[in-house]
Amino acid sequence: MECFAGPLAAQDPFCMNPADPPAPPTLPFLPFALPEIGEDDIAEVVDTLRSGWITTGPKAKRFEADFKAWLGDAGDNTDGLHCIAVNSATAGLHLALEALGIGPGDEVITTTHTFTATAEVVRYLGADVRLVDIDPATLNIDPAAIEAAITPRTKAIMPVHYAGLAADMPQVLAIAQRHGLKVVEDAAHALPTTSAGRRVGTLDSDATVFSFYANKTITTGEGGMLVTRNAALAKRAQVMRLHGMSRDAFDRFTATVPSWYYEIVAPGFKYNLTDIAAALGLGQLKKAHRFGQRRAQIAALYNQALQGLPVILPPDSLPGDLHSWHLYVLRLLPQAAMGRNALIEHLFAQRIGCSVHYTPLHLHPYWRDRYGLSPTQFPQSQQAFDAMLSLPIYTSMTDDDVLRVCEAIKTALR
Ligand SMILES: *Cc1c(COP(=O)(O)O)cnc(C)c1O
Repeated sequence: MECFAGPLAAQDPFCMNPADPPAPPTLPFLPFALPEIGEDDIAEVVDTLRSGWITTGPKAKRFEADFKAWLGDAGDNTDGLHCIAVNSATAGLHLALEALGIGPGDEVITTTHTFTATAEVVRYLGADVRLVDIDPATLNIDPAAIEAAITPRTKAIMPVHYAGLAADMPQVLAIAQRHGLKVVEDAAHALPTTSAGRRVGTLDSDATVFSFYANKTITTGEGGMLVTRNAALAKRAQVMRLHGMSRDAFDRFTATVPSWYYEIVAPGFKYNLTDIAAALGLGQLKKAHRFGQRRAQIAALYNQALQGLPVILPPDSLPGDLHSWHLYVLRLLPQAAMGRNALIEHLFAQRIGCSVHYTPLHLHPYWRDRYGLSPTQFPQSQQAFDAMLSLPIYTSMTDDDVLRVCEAIKTALR
């Protein structure tokens, strides 16, 4: 990923904390992303700090229960849904694939147009990644490309709801069903997002994983939520989340053995969410709908103000569906007065932070070299990448902030 907002931000893969950029010093720096933390959030965290229980405990449990209630609050069916709090979405994706038995010799299909976390978890398990191209209309994984990449070794598909727009889940799920494949949704951008009227998290995939990283639509600093209807998957993930400790063994023996007793049933991971982080999540979740509405307003304001410029505006959701607007991704047309890199530099000089989501995986040395990839295999992702930039979008941005960004872009492209 490229970062254009100063030396501090260059160390931060998500460009959250721009250091003071150069002149003009009179304009305040408009960051690319900013979490909205309220006094209520702070109070909940302080309550945890004073409680004497700061790691996984009552708040993490409540966060899981609240998350399930939130997923169902628009009437979607959440019967049998398990919500498992983890310390990152990366951890949740890893746990989901592990519980599905993905391992050496297996292949998992995902989009090249994503963050490396989506794909790296496949390699953690010794399985191989098959990267495929996107649909240029949506920037989401192209169902036809999925179908073309299926081999006898294929075990799973990992769609990403890029920018917060749902991937074509009806098609992805139909392909998976036809070929007997598992589906794990990378929903790091997708809160709140709906697909064909249903909340992402309640669809018919095997597992869905949300991220609460600092720049995501709700945050716990670091954190994630693994959601599944598969009871066996949930049980395995709960055990593997904490060192492979079997709670069952604990439960079976509590009547006769004191509470120090546990059994290790597998070489598990350290992926549990702390109560400090969960405390932050409790308040953030209550605001998720307001946050979503504000992001949608900002996107609409951008769309309106950038109309008529030599750009492709971001794809919107289908009528009746929700787009979370985690990212607002603009693409420049060839006739624009300057290219993407020059525009980002121009905006930075105007003290406006931007980013690029993402340098596609096929361009990164590890993925390129491991699978011998070239841009010609991913023409749509490559073309989008060359032309794209992500504009600032976060809940505390004012309408004037949005218009300031638009004016700077208009000046540059004219
Ligand atoms: C942020 C992100 C992740 C990883 O989330 P973490 O909570 O930081 O592990 C995975 N996939 C995508 C598409 C992301 O944007």
